[in-house]
Amino acid sequence: MKSPVARLIALVGALGLASAALAAAPAAHQIQVRIEPETRLLEGRDSLRFDPPHAATLLISSRFSLDSVAVDGQRIEPKARLDGSFQRIALPAARRIDLVWHGTLAPLERSLDHRGTLGYAEPASGMEGTFLPSGSGWYPIVDAELESYSLELDLPADQRGLVPGRLVEESEAQGRYRARFEFSQPAEGISLMAGPYRIEERRVRTAAGSDVRLRTYFHAEIAALASGYLDSVAGYLDLYERRIGRYPFSEFSVVSSPTPTGFGMPSLTYLGIDVLRLPFIRATSLGHEMLHNWWGNGVYSDFARGNWSEGLTNFMADYAYRERESPEAARAMRLGWLRDYAAMPSADDTPLARFTSRTHGASQIVGYTKSAMLFLMLRDAVGEAAFDAGLRDFWRDYRFRVASWDDLRRAFERASGKKLAAFFAQWLERTGAPALRIAGAEARPAASGWRLSVTLEQGAPAYALAVPLRIRTRGGDITRRVDLARERDTALIELPSEPLEIALDPELRLLRRLAAAEAPPILRDAMLAPHPGLIVASADAAVQAAARELAAGLLERAPAERQPASPLLVAGLHADIDAWLAREKMAPRPAALTTTRGSAQVWTARAGDASIVVLVSAQDAASLAALARPLPHYGQQSYLVFEGARMIARGTWPAQPQVWKLKSKM
Ligand SMILES: [Zn+2]
Repeated sequence: MKSPVARLIALVGALGLASAALAAAPAAHQIQVRIEPETRLLEGRDSLRFDPPHAATLLISSRFSLDSVAVDGQRIEPKARLDGSFQRIALPAARRIDLVWHGTLAPLERSLDHRGTLGYAEPASGMEGTFLPSGSGWYPIVDAELESYSLELDLPADQRGLVPGRLVEESEAQGRYRARFEFSQPAEGISLMAGPYRIEERRVRTAAGSDVRLRTYFHAEIAALASGYLDSVAGYLDLYERRIGRYPFSEFSVVSSPTPTGFGMPSLTYLGIDVLRLPFIRATSLGHEMLHNWWGNGVYSDFARGNWSEGLTNFMADYAYRERESPEAARAMRLGWLRDYAAMPSADDTPLARFTSRTHGASQIVGYTKSAMLFLMLRDAVGEAAFDAGLRDFWRDYRFRVASWDDLRRAFERASGKKLAAFFAQWLERTGAPALRIAGAEARPAASGWRLSVTLEQGAPAYALAVPLRIRTRGGDITRRVDLARERDTALIELPSEPLEIALDPELRLLRRLAAAEAPPILRDAMLAPHPGLIVASADAAVQAAARELAAGLLERAPAERQPASPLLVAGLHADIDAWLAREKMAPRPAALTTTRGSAQVWTARAGDASIVVLVSAQDAASLAALARPLPHYGQQSYLVFEGARMIARGTWPAQPQVWKLKSKM
């Protein structure tokens, strides 16, 4: 299970890359930019080169005034057309365009949450930090083209700043800090960060023999964390170079942001100060963001044909760290994924090939979870050696190029010698997943040992699966994979001793719709429900108001007309909830929640008709209101206890694998 904050960290650098523009050489910027955070003034100059010369459209934010534009040295009066918050400037075919612009940046809003920051495309500045996102039009973006650049940054001496790429030189003189950067590969836009940073630096020679400059750009209040972060960065660099191939940049920087955000960009990651303070970030999100230098910022996803990089990064970072920890931790993560998937209404499910970016909860489950499971099943199918070889070949062949799912498939086919078209097609192009069950099983003594026949069903349309069965025999446990390619099929298994019991995919290695007992309810079942219901089990006005606010933040769709069997949210004070449960003839408050009471308790249960009920029980209206902000972060939990807004206990109800008990023939 991912922590709520780790989940917020996502790659968003690659917004809107037009794959059509990849044929030509990238437009080359030569930018000089001066920023005064105190007055929020920005002054910029750019000398843009096109090789070969061609016509282009430039986009720049309408908050800037264009002071001059010259085409191949000839000054022109450009006609800018207003397009939303951008000025759109169509230019004639040219080898070189020179522009000068200036304007006032938006004030930096510290209060923005992550979702706000993601949607906040304005370039913003203040003494605590400057963030000019790549898509914000702070410089003249060449529409629908990749761009390379050289950039000179000019800041007051108490500020430091950077853009992705190689730091060529930097200096502090006459009250100014200046730094020059180069990014010679085709990039998807330029993001600029600055702030009152303290820089810590370490140079390392990597396993592949390159010299890499590692840096932290941290605010003073977290400066003490710098060396720990540099240790972790060096560790990840080594890990991924050995597994994939040479790190593609000459630097990697961890940069703190005054807003609670998380961005991955080529050669750096930009994370909120409060995020960087969390002890688990170094062990999880940091590695995920570094790995994006290979997948996403090293090889680009073909966004029109599906984003493979998020799932592969999830698999090789977040999931790999769990595997390294223990088999149990890895299994717990797979259970979390499949439980999330089970909580997703089937109407929200989409083929993985259609996942292009991150929009809401359901698409995240498709893009991260389904996709990570695909890589797990692929590695199980081709073996670890071929899987790793495929990844290394893919990296070698597609570095700084756009690659699709098909390109990935071909790399794994070459490495494994196996045909994988059917495998990729069924997991990428179909909506949904198989719902597996054991329909029957019988065992008989055979000439030597026992013969077990197992009938499996999977619903329609059928997937081609190698279903793991763990068979408990008198001589111990044996795991076998049986092929299932039809909706219903019977497999014969020879065993050395008498089988007693069969468990279906108990290690959860297949992407499938879990049965109810395999997927005990979690909060997300209600959060994602298409037609959730809300009952406030109290007449008190303050409790009513707090419950409605809680529901508005927790549920993706407003609770209106609850449909039969849809999840239900029931909120109230402790006595109201106990009375409601008794009236509905549901199980009383679980034992796990009677020892640690806190000021509020939340748990999931099943009603008589098997529909999911989320109970929210508080000691008073204020305690109920305190849950509104933290609770949406705990979708993967079955129960929680809060003291005010602080979570003090949580957990998931145990999952029961599907088991078939054989009748004894002895
Ligand atoms: Zn990511």
